[in-house]
Amino acid sequence: MPKSFPVISQEAQVQSWSIAPDATALEQLAAGIWSCAGQASARPIVVLSTAGPLIGVRAALEKYRPKVGDIQPQKAFLPQVMSFGDWLEAAPGIWRFPQKPSDLERWISVYVNLRKHPQLKSWFKAESDAGAWGLAQSVIAACDILSEAMIPQLHEQLNQLIQSQALDSEAWIKALQVMLDRTIAQAYPALSRKVVDQESEVLLTFWRYLSGVGDGVFRKHFAMAAYLGLAQTNQATPRPLIWVETADPKPIDHEVMERYLSNYAQYAPVIKVTLDWQTVALWPEALAGNNELGELKELSEEQASQVKRNLASARYQDWRLLSARRFEELAWAATQAIEAHLIAGKKNIALVAQDRLAARRARALLSRLGPALNIRDETGWKLDTTRAAAALNSWLELIRAPKEGPTASALLAFLQNPYLDIAACIQLPPEACIGLVAQLEDILIASQAKSGWETFYMAIERANVYAGNQHNAAHEALLKVLQFIRARHYAWQELNLHCANAYAMLQKDLEDTGIARALEKDSAGQQLLETMLSLDLHSSDYQFVAMRLPEWISLIKTVMEGASYAEAGKEAQATLSILPLSSTRLRSFDAVVVVGCDEQQLPAFSEPPLFFSDALNRLLRASTITAQYVQQARDFSQLLVSCASVDLLWQSKSKSGEPLRPSAWIQRLQAELPSWKAVIAQPTLYEGKAQPIKQSVTTLAADLPMPLSMSPSAYKALRDCPYKYYVRSLLGLRAAKEFEDGFDASLAGQSLHALLRNFYQALKTEEQQVHSLVNADIQARREWMEQALLTISEKEFKRLVEGDRRVLGTLRDWQKQIPSFVDWQLQREADGWRYHNAEQKVGFDLHFIDVDGMERMMRIEGRADRFDINVKSGHSAEVIDYKNQSMTKMKKRSEHVLDDPQLLIYARAANENPASAHLQDHEIKQAEWVSLKADVKRGKKAQRSLEVESVTELMPMFSEQLTKDIEKLWSRKPLAAFAPDGVCQYCEARGICRKGMW
Ligand code: SF4
Repeated sequence: MPKSFPVISQEAQVQSWSIAPDATALEQLAAGIWSCAGQASARPIVVLSTAGPLIGVRAALEKYRPKVGDIQPQKAFLPQVMSFGDWLEAAPGIWRFPQKPSDLERWISVYVNLRKHPQLKSWFKAESDAGAWGLAQSVIAACDILSEAMIPQLHEQLNQLIQSQALDSEAWIKALQVMLDRTIAQAYPALSRKVVDQESEVLLTFWRYLSGVGDGVFRKHFAMAAYLGLAQTNQATPRPLIWVETADPKPIDHEVMERYLSNYAQYAPVIKVTLDWQTVALWPEALAGNNELGELKELSEEQASQVKRNLASARYQDWRLLSARRFEELAWAATQAIEAHLIAGKKNIALVAQDRLAARRARALLSRLGPALNIRDETGWKLDTTRAAAALNSWLELIRAPKEGPTASALLAFLQNPYLDIAACIQLPPEACIGLVAQLEDILIASQAKSGWETFYMAIERANVYAGNQHNAAHEALLKVLQFIRARHYAWQELNLHCANAYAMLQKDLEDTGIARALEKDSAGQQLLETMLSLDLHSSDYQFVAMRLPEWISLIKTVMEGASYAEAGKEAQATLSILPLSSTRLRSFDAVVVVGCDEQQLPAFSEPPLFFSDALNRLLRASTITAQYVQQARDFSQLLVSCASVDLLWQSKSKSGEPLRPSAWIQRLQAELPSWKAVIAQPTLYEGKAQPIKQSVTTLAADLPMPLSMSPSAYKALRDCPYKYYVRSLLGLRAAKEFEDGFDASLAGQSLHALLRNFYQALKTEEQQVHSLVNADIQARREWMEQALLTISEKEFKRLVEGDRRVLGTLRDWQKQIPSFVDWQLQREADGWRYHNAEQKVGFDLHFIDVDGMERMMRIEGRADRFDINVKSGHSAEVIDYKNQSMTKMKKRSEHVLDDPQLLIYARAANENPASAHLQDHEIKQAEWVSLKADVKRGKKAQRSLEVESVTELMPMFSEQLTKDIEKLWSRKPLAAFAPDGVCQYCEARGICRKGMW
């Protein structure tokens, strides 16, 4: 039976009333509040100790409003309902209170001191910047607990302070010292005395430094005292105060509030409303609670039989117990349970996220339902997980890069963020910027330019040269983009950073890049900009606190991590609220699904504070594990008893495969309710028959254009595997390239080719000098060559090394090759060979007959690394290909020259059209590969080159084979996927031909 609201007495005493937190709780509360309004003939002030039930209470007051005529018009106004936090903020004359330092100012004040004492950071394992900011937060939280512990003892002092506006902080510190010493002495055994002493010393020092009249803890009591003062002055027309304790208070809060309410009752009626667990508790701890010492209370006989009666009357038929074996099955089971409720027409559903991951997964699965279901996440969606925060983060990652420049991944992550306005950055029309980032990505990946501004510039410049050769437009806009970002990155490197100038610079960057404008158009973006405002310390003492850039960035990230993102509500046919168990308190839902009811996650305890053990917390009268346990038992009882339909789901196997049982509370219920059984959630299975995959064979579509030109590498692909050629060259499909781990030699390989070309040009010039030593004797020539190669190598690699220090290893490896390379060159010269030219584009027209008997022509063309001529044998010439490979690999290559006939193609091209290679009067009779990675171990003469045997004899065979292959291709006969495993291993088309599955 609900207890009726007390008759308001004229005695200046707090009156108590309680409601049963069952399905009728809000109705009982509304009836009581209206009764109070009627009796007092005034509009009561209702203060809820937690904010969760606020909307529910207001709605219930409206729903159960007395009929017109039963109440006087002046009382018909809805009673004023506020959460405790809102009530404090609305205190009379709050503007006169000492100014509250922002959270950020308090963090910085601690952080600055932590920085001065690295020893402190190492004690608490917080050496990193992020760790130090986390430690600063913990110190503040601990200081607040200490301040709260002081409040009852200093209550009188506080009241005097409010009147006198003066704070005797010295006296406070002494009182705290005594109290801490006492609590520490009681809490910790003598053995851990040393550590505890360090902790207490640190905390006391910070508390001494931090405490100020503006602290939230003290401000709270100023606000409460201000209300007291108002009640004192308005005694003639008192408004009743209804204090609703929606959750068990901490012992310290309980004591403070008791004292405050009795003071208030001197001036106005005060009704304290508590929750009566008599008819709701399903377990003894939920009914008895814990005592002043923080220990569980014993049940009386009457209470024990009451719990039994509660269990006997429990509507367990409305509770479904579902177990799922795997995580994914659990998420699906939760999703299906919610879908079933929606189909049954339920509109207001709660998903209690004891298992946050499973709740998130269920949320993702439910997003299939589209806008008809409004999903509200109340579990505290972190702001730093939003897309808007990722955009800001991408810029922070970029500016924190070393002065050589960021990694390509960091650069591309920033450029690809959707909030960036590239057109505004480089002041070009938006249409000129379409595809710009994709182009840059292609260039950087193709040249494996992984980090450093100089590397990026080189990659783009080389792409520009290539584009110029191909008569394509150069990538000038890309250079502008790089310049824009580099200038800002440089400005951050040069900044003598303090909080104020860093904040201003970041804001300017966000403006210049157009990110700020884009963020304003987005809900998460607006919240991010608001959170960023808290970093503006322009009127604070901390604005000129100097920091290193990583420290400051870490601060921003910590601020973003601490901020929550509130989703914008929207109209929908049904609402799903994802919330923690505590948020279901005094709220009504059509159905509740609890996910994560296993023994590990229900009950769930908050992280223990860094500084205080549970025993110390108990002595400081703060929140303890037992109190959290009791509160959750009560919340869970309330949920089961008051909600019409509850689904309890848990994962019955842990990640390690160990069986997981349901929560002990559920097991205890099952023991009392034997017919309440768990159901195993079965995933929906679909049957189908697999078709075995067969070897991939393609027949070219009639409208697929046939190739009119072919490069040596395309021809090699055709020889390797016709299907590979089809995918690569006819369909033009390429695997999306990525940056590989470690330094790739693409740009370095290009640099090697370029430096060798420059070296030989320099040698030619030197040879023409009349008095040059290179013509004098072989030793002088050797020395000049070695020196020139070293110098040119350093020069050619300089920018690459500036961009990425790892390239230095590649340069040094190459420099070790130089003496052996010069040996090889001198030996060639002794045999009569002279460098002629390099990187010549050569090709020939292949004439063939197609399947219809028509004469066709295909251009076979490529770029040869180098041509040499022989001064001793008159008209002989040789084509050379540099390979950045070991001799072993080159030997393997030489075993199948006709399948990889790159050198034969160049030889035929140069012989058919000598002018194109500037080889008039010369014939290519020789070809060789030259290794730039020869084995130059000490005392060993390196083999550097490998000659293609019998070029002249091979040439007719090669030409015949080439013609046949091209005729076959043009005949549109089926192209099959067929190649040895060695080829398939690195084949990009493997995902398409599905080799390995047939
Ligand atoms: S994986 Fe092998 S069989 Fe398949 S396309 Fe590539 S080379 Fe041919």
